[in-house]
Amino acid sequence: TDSDTADEAVRATCDDASTCKRFATSKGYWKDPYIQYFVRSVGERKAPEINRGYYARVQGVNQLLDAFIRKTQCDCQVINLGAGLDTTFWRLKDENLLPKKFFEVDFPAIVARKIHNIKTKPPLSKPIVETHSTDSLLLDSRSLDSDRYCIIAADLRDVANLESKLKKFQLNTELPTLFLSECVLVYMTPPQSFSLLHWAAKTFHTAMFINYEQVNMSDRFGQVMIENLQRRQCSLTGVEACQSLDSQKERFLSTGWENTDALDMMTVYSVLPQDDVSRIEALEFLDEKELLQQLLQHYNICWASKDKLNLGKSPWSF
Ligand code: SAM
Repeated sequence: TDSDTADEAVRATCDDASTCKRFATSKGYWKDPYIQYFVRSVGERKAPEINRGYYARVQGVNQLLDAFIRKTQCDCQVINLGAGLDTTFWRLKDENLLPKKFFEVDFPAIVARKIHNIKTKPPLSKPIVETHSTDSLLLDSRSLDSDRYCIIAADLRDVANLESKLKKFQLNTELPTLFLSECVLVYMTPPQSFSLLHWAAKTFHTAMFINYEQVNMSDRFGQVMIENLQRRQCSLTGVEACQSLDSQKERFLSTGWENTDALDMMTVYSVLPQDDVSRIEALEFLDEKELLQQLLQHYNICWASKDKLNLGKSPWSF
């Protein structure tokens, strides 16, 4: 059916993200010793502005995520929605920043691939076994459940089913919880993403949501981005919320979140540690400075919180 084709195109975006991350790390933009086990070959060259864009995305999201985990002293949960082949679990383990439990959710086909890689690659499975207390570790093609890491196959557009699966795997609604979504909400219709955000806000008393996705899509550059995706049968059904930083924030405010802020990636790039930015800018010559700016202005990180503990109120540095 048409909707199967559309879902398949959305699932394929998972490979875009991981092949771009694989390429950028092979060039030294940041370190990720685990991504090679999900994406075997470095693949074809990506333009320097793409690599810098991914650098800003990964560093920006990591800074907010790590600040939340530190603030809660790891007494928290993380739920990565539409996680794809993301390797954050292993990075947090290596940096001694593992939350009480790290959850990931994606479509069954993506989850099956991820679990297959974990099963067959000891550098991926070892840290999961090491952080698990008993011999019984649930691992089939649809889910993985251990003490600290859980991967669930579910459709984010069905919130009731999502909630029951998370609860089955010991989601604790009393713990401070961080939600993460990178280029995921944009593939859901506004009512679908609203009900997901609303559920998250009403279920936890202390929570933060970090969302990375397109913004400022109504100008010419944004239209070209949309057309490029459409050519691959991929439609940004949620693009309505991507008109401006204000519409990104409004989506959270209207679904029960209390404090919210949003920065376009050009701004994020300018608040990242500048010594590291200088280091990566020396990695590859960038001819098209203007193209990089345009690109960065069309993505943003929006975050929102709901907290009795007053986590994450002040913008970047907490
Ligand atoms: N967040 C990962 C990253 O940044 O590397 C992957 C990003 S990829 C662009 C979007 C991911 O969201 C895909 O893995 C896709 O399968 C997942 N996704 C999109 N809509 C979904 C839905 N309704 N239910 C579950 N997963 C979904």
